[in-house]
Amino acid sequence: MATVDNRSVLRNLEGDECPWTEDCSGELERGEYKDTDALVCPNCDTPIVRVW
Ligand SMILES: [Zn+2]
Repeated sequence: MATVDNRSVLRNLEGDECPWTEDCSGELERGEYKDTDALVCPNCDTPIVRVW
């Protein structure tokens, strides 16, 4: 199993355009979702990446 540095994944995706829907052009932000680190889109309130 490959080892992934999840925190660097979050950094790499931070500021990317929301991939969730084509209608949303929000930029992903670091945040928390259910007490875990996550990237969320402030425009559509969707957690894109969660790290356990
Ligand atoms: Zn969005």
